[in-house]
Amino acid sequence: MAAQHYDLIIIGGGVSGTALLYTASRYTNLKKIALLEKYAQVALVNSRSSNNSQTLHCGDIETNYSLEKALIVKRAAQMIVNYASQLADSDKILYRLPKMVVGIGEEETTILQKRADEFSARFPYMRLLDKKAIAEIEPGVAIINGQFRPEPLAAFACTDEYSAADFAALSRSFLEQSLKCANENVDVLFNTKVKTLAKEGDVFQITTANKTYTANAVVVSACGHSLLFAQKMGYGLEYSCLPVAGSFYISPKIINGKVYTIQSKKLPFAAIHGDYDFLLNGQTRFGPTALLLPLLERYNLASLPDFLRVLHLDRKVIKVFWDLLKDTEIRRYIIKNFFYEIPLIRKPLFLKAARKIVPSLQLRDLKYARRFGGVRPQLIDKLNRKLLLGEAKINPGNGIIFNMTPSPGASSCLDNAEKDTRIIAKYLNAEINEDALQTELHQKSYLKHKPINP
Ligand SMILES: Cc1cc2nc3c(=O)[nH]c(=O)nc-3n(C[C@H](O)[C@H](O)[C@H](O)COP(=O)(O)OP(=O)(O)OC[C@H]3O[C@@H](n4cnc5c(N)ncnc54)[C@H](O)[C@@H]3O)c2cc1C
Repeated sequence: MAAQHYDLIIIGGGVSGTALLYTASRYTNLKKIALLEKYAQVALVNSRSSNNSQTLHCGDIETNYSLEKALIVKRAAQMIVNYASQLADSDKILYRLPKMVVGIGEEETTILQKRADEFSARFPYMRLLDKKAIAEIEPGVAIINGQFRPEPLAAFACTDEYSAADFAALSRSFLEQSLKCANENVDVLFNTKVKTLAKEGDVFQITTANKTYTANAVVVSACGHSLLFAQKMGYGLEYSCLPVAGSFYISPKIINGKVYTIQSKKLPFAAIHGDYDFLLNGQTRFGPTALLLPLLERYNLASLPDFLRVLHLDRKVIKVFWDLLKDTEIRRYIIKNFFYEIPLIRKPLFLKAARKIVPSLQLRDLKYARRFGGVRPQLIDKLNRKLLLGEAKINPGNGIIFNMTPSPGASSCLDNAEKDTRIIAKYLNAEINEDALQTELHQKSYLKHKPINP
């Protein structure tokens, strides 16, 4: 039987793969597109809302981003706001909540003041707040036993911006809109795990348990597994992968929005924060921790051999690990995060960290969030012997792309999808409806709740 053929096959139905399904079906004239997902629904892995922090990263409260990086993520996040504002049910995807990054103690408040000086012009909605102003928005952060907490305290904050997103709802919405835009041109195949990927002549062969598919172009949006597929085809061998899982703790509602803390510049992800969890009726979620875990997919032991394959443990990788471990601050951080997972001792240890955010927090208030938290596949650049910050793309230029998407991958999904759409359209000589794309994804002033035309 002839294999089913497509112009474009997308592997992976998280927020990245579904965003691409949307941009490719809505803005190009590609005739046949398929999305292959190994599970029975979209967004069951890292894009599931209990597995990430639900933050729409705009770069304003993430102190591990430079201004340059912050402006890139802000633009990407705005694309999600623009997309969602055309939907009647955008309030199920995006949430307006107060957000702030707090500096605690002399050193951190000085860092924050400097950051405010640097960022204010490009983030005009953000304000530098003192203790009293913080207490008005987040009393749990500024007040202990009815008094202001004693240390110096400042925050860089805003109260009325989109700051949280349900990335699973966003994924479902991309899927729904893709099917509306081009229903007969789009096939979505669940329970379809891709086993092998190869190029024969001009065509890609994609084998699954039951069937083989062919395609003129392929985008692999399978998070950590993308690197595995790339390396099996001989690409991205200059990378190794360090999976960093993140766990969470839950307390009754004590925070009204998002409260980030200042991160060490040495670490490529955010320090633990406290967040209003809209799926837990506003209970507070603290985390994520940063646990080194030899799995490409959390809670899936079958991904252990996959991890070992992408690790490629050689002298260059060992050198990166050694450089990380010989730094006392990083070593302590890794050990501390490991202890946050050990029953009996984890709660009191984590309480100490969470009290930096909410000083009055009590042990009885905290609960380890079971089966919450995904894995961030942080890439190791073997050539430059360093850990990379954020997402990465491998584009050999022959019609296949591999996306590795640690944080802020969900916030950047549409920006990344636009990039992939352009690469694939160029490769396949397809057309892009530039007017619609620019108007709908890039024009802030696009009519609120103007429904997307099928
Ligand atoms: C603890 C934590 C906190 C985070 N917080 C944030 C945050 O606040 N904001 C933010 O923007 N980002 C955050 N991130 C990052 C964000 O979750 C990811 O960038 C995003 O979810 C990646 O989406 P994705 O679609 O690329 O990957 P996933 O959502 O992991 O989707 C990959 C899909 O590929 C499928 N797949 C894999 N292998 C195959 C195969 N062989 N065949 C078929 N299908 C396959 C999987 O089943 C899955 O559905 C966080 C991540 C973690 C772990």
